Amino acid sequence: MKQTTDSTIPAFSTEVLKPRTAPKNIAVKCPECKEIILEREYRKNLKTCPRCQYHFRLRAHERIELLVDPDSFIEEDEDLISIDPLHFVSQSQAYAEKLAQEREKSGINDAIVIGHATIEGRPLALGVMDFQFIGGSMGSVVGEKIARVIELALARRIPLLLVSASGGARMQEGLYSLMQMAKTSAALARLSEAGMPYFSLLTNPTTGGVTASFAMLGDIILAEPGGLICFAGPRVIEQFMHEKLPEGAASAEFLLQHGLLDRIVSRQELRQTLAQLLRFYSQSTLHLAAREEIIHIPRNQTKRGLYYPAHQGVPERAKTQIRLRVRSRETEET
Ligand SMILES: [Zn+2]
Repeated sequence: MKQTTDSTIPAFSTEVLKPRTAPKNIAVKCPECKEIILEREYRKNLKTCPRCQYHFRLRAHERIELLVDPDSFIEEDEDLISIDPLHFVSQSQAYAEKLAQEREKSGINDAIVIGHATIEGRPLALGVMDFQFIGGSMGSVVGEKIARVIELALARRIPLLLVSASGGARMQEGLYSLMQMAKTSAALARLSEAGMPYFSLLTNPTTGGVTASFAMLGDIILAEPGGLICFAGPRVIEQFMHEKLPEGAASAEFLLQHGLLDRIVSRQELRQTLAQLLRFYSQSTLHLAAREEIIHIPRNQTKRGLYYPAHQGVPERAKTQIRLRVRSRETEET
């Protein structure tokens, strides 16, 4: 990976910054290149390492703040909480008890935050996973919230963004967790049939049942650099197959090389990239919107909705664009 050296970073003695002597939170250590990054620098770089570009994990609310227009995010269904259908007990702790503890510790009710917001004024529905809550595992609440945010995108005819960070399906809910793979995939199929775009952003780590369902079903699949993306981790595969995997076989870079991702985007460029995609796709959904006699006018949002009612017809400019698109498609085909 490209390394950058920043001459503005002050030289300092590592002696002074040893965790034992330094006050808490003054610096963080990069787990990749072992660089000590001052807190100020760390925040300025959006929690990435200035030396090796290692991307530290973000909480869901930090991710949302980073991506969407200020104060535009409206959270939905934040009150949904899991029950303990299997009366699961692990290491002498009941799952119900663990859930309560995790809610207290993480400040959120389950491993995903969903809602809607705007990026550069363009609306989108979004769901952002939070690894802090039981390793971002997908139980029935995560699956339900994903299904609901897909339905929100469908109902409002706005694009969808899901940001994954997950250790996979939640074992404490057994089959109920596995069922979420089918449920989220089925909901996405409906979104696809309606012609609405879905952007999937994979962050470190995206694994297990999440990779095997909604995370890999994006129309556009983006990933942050260096992220671990796989179904089963490399160590598990090696133990099972008795074979050594190639270096970095589960990294975002490896997946990109093998055609499983569309692009790796650094955190600094994420917002801009998503804004660009939204711009592009609001043009391409115009055709469909016109066919259904609904036209999406992002710049002229009203409190009640984002659409012109059918009786107002399709604006002349939109018609021209549709004609152009249809014509260019015909040229491609011939
Ligand atoms: Zn580093």
